[in-house]
Amino acid sequence: MSPAPVNKHEEVLERALRPKLLQEYVGQEKAREQLEIFIGAARKRGEALDHVLLFGPPGLGKTTLSHIIAAELGVNLRQTSGPVLEKPKDLAALLTNLEANDVLFIDEIHRLSPVVEEILYPALEDYQIDIMIGEGPAARSIKLDLQPFTLVGATTRAGMLTNPLRDRFGIVARLEFYNAEELARIVMRSAGLLGAPIDAAGAQEIANRSRGTPRIANRLLRRVRDYAEVKGDGTITQDMARKALSMLDVDPRGFDVMDRKLLEAVVHRFDGGPVGVDNIAASIGEDAGTIEDVIEPYLIQQGYLQRTPRGRIATKAAYQHLGLVAPQAAGS
Ligand code: ADP
Repeated sequence: MSPAPVNKHEEVLERALRPKLLQEYVGQEKAREQLEIFIGAARKRGEALDHVLLFGPPGLGKTTLSHIIAAELGVNLRQTSGPVLEKPKDLAALLTNLEANDVLFIDEIHRLSPVVEEILYPALEDYQIDIMIGEGPAARSIKLDLQPFTLVGATTRAGMLTNPLRDRFGIVARLEFYNAEELARIVMRSAGLLGAPIDAAGAQEIANRSRGTPRIANRLLRRVRDYAEVKGDGTITQDMARKALSMLDVDPRGFDVMDRKLLEAVVHRFDGGPVGVDNIAASIGEDAGTIEDVIEPYLIQQGYLQRTPRGRIATKAAYQHLGLVAPQAAGS
């Protein structure tokens, strides 16, 4: 299942379900605690919050958190993404329009082009940018002062950031997969906002199968709601959730078709590994980046796959999940 919003309609619904304040933001205790303190201090002093880097797999709440940071600071949020900022002047236009202490959110910040990144360094450090005026021999560079601001950068892979960029973030928060209890709370809250009747066991069932990811939990909730409306009286019970989710090919562990394809490839085609990501990618017809960012983090966190210097290895749990007997040599 793709973790990104599938279409405009989904995107609108997703926005509607976003918690607006830190207090409503479920889980991520460590990140929340840090932010609560630093936001409180910045507010007290009337200063811009230090730059924040959020990293972790898609759908865990990075965008949501950036909106919350701006709301808690009582400032505007400007939003863009690494690939959208093609030229230095695209970023310069955004930066020069910021008001004092505003938040600039750059999603997929690891995809900034080097020339755009260059502009960002002095902006982050001294709230200044150098821009080129004119062309050819008459071209000259001028310095522009900016209002103090906070950059919130989000990335699925902190390792892909250049060192000078990473070093300029004063606050770095890694978002973790959510546990089932936290996801059940998110499902209950979202069901309330959608006006969908649900019982605790129904919410738990959806939570258990959401790959530790709120975006997936909310998406499955909407699908189960459709199912319950057509096949039942509309109430989302455990039984309804089970039937709907098995129809959607989401298995009891929450693995979807791509998860199973990956595990099956490692086990059957590569003898359980070790096998490199590129070989897995070629074998299952998926992009290597998607495997690394989206599919394997959860399989690794759940103990079905191991990442070793020689490649990925299927663990005993992976064999068991596929209904096979694990060889002695399988990882544990
Ligand atoms: P990311 O930017 O990391 O891909 P998003 O911030 O877009 O993820 O979150 C995806 C969806 O999950 C949002 O619509 C939001 O409703 C929900 N969500 C994310 N984190 C939380 C949370 N901690 N509590 C409640 N809902 C959350």
